[in-house]
Amino acid sequence: MITYMLKDVLYINLTNQCTNNCSFCIRNHPEGLGFDLWLQKEPSVEEIIEDIKGRENYREVVFCGYGEPLTRYREVIAVARYLKGLDKPVRVNTNGQANLIWGRDIVPELEGYVDSISISLNAADSAEYARLCSPEDGALAYEAVLKFAEACTRHIPEVWLTVVDVISAHQIECCREIAEKMGAKFRVRHYY
Ligand code: SF4
Repeated sequence: MITYMLKDVLYINLTNQCTNNCSFCIRNHPEGLGFDLWLQKEPSVEEIIEDIKGRENYREVVFCGYGEPLTRYREVIAVARYLKGLDKPVRVNTNGQANLIWGRDIVPELEGYVDSISISLNAADSAEYARLCSPEDGALAYEAVLKFAEACTRHIPEVWLTVVDVISAHQIECCREIAEKMGAKFRVRHYY
């Protein structure tokens, strides 16, 4: 399934690749969201747009999926360009490792296409992040997420840092402070 609706939000599932393997990831639960989000092949930009054309009555579009959307950031930009033509706000839910994945700062390229970005901070320090998220790049990942988030505050109108309520109340408060210092909004997501 390339796109799916939850209430009045249209979600785009453009990849199953991810550089993390979070202990709380919905991919670890076969029942998932009730949609079949395992892709036989990654959809092209044309296929995604064709799928979007079959949808109506949505107020926002979110690049999300069962994976990390910015592993395909060029496709995100191409589809977002189409959505801008429809005057639809665009959000990206990301693990924040895009600059590590691509080996350079891709955030300026998102400017003007992404209205809101939600970055999974998940932990208040690198060791806890590694324990929860098992990132492919090990100890490099957490610092990369923080730098990515900082860059986003300079290029994207709305930046959220999020955690899942599987960590301690103390860790949650530390994460809230990190977000506030950065000028980002903060959200605690509930683990289902
Ligand atoms: S970053 Fe997101 S998609 Fe990737 S493993 Fe973690 S929860 Fe799953």
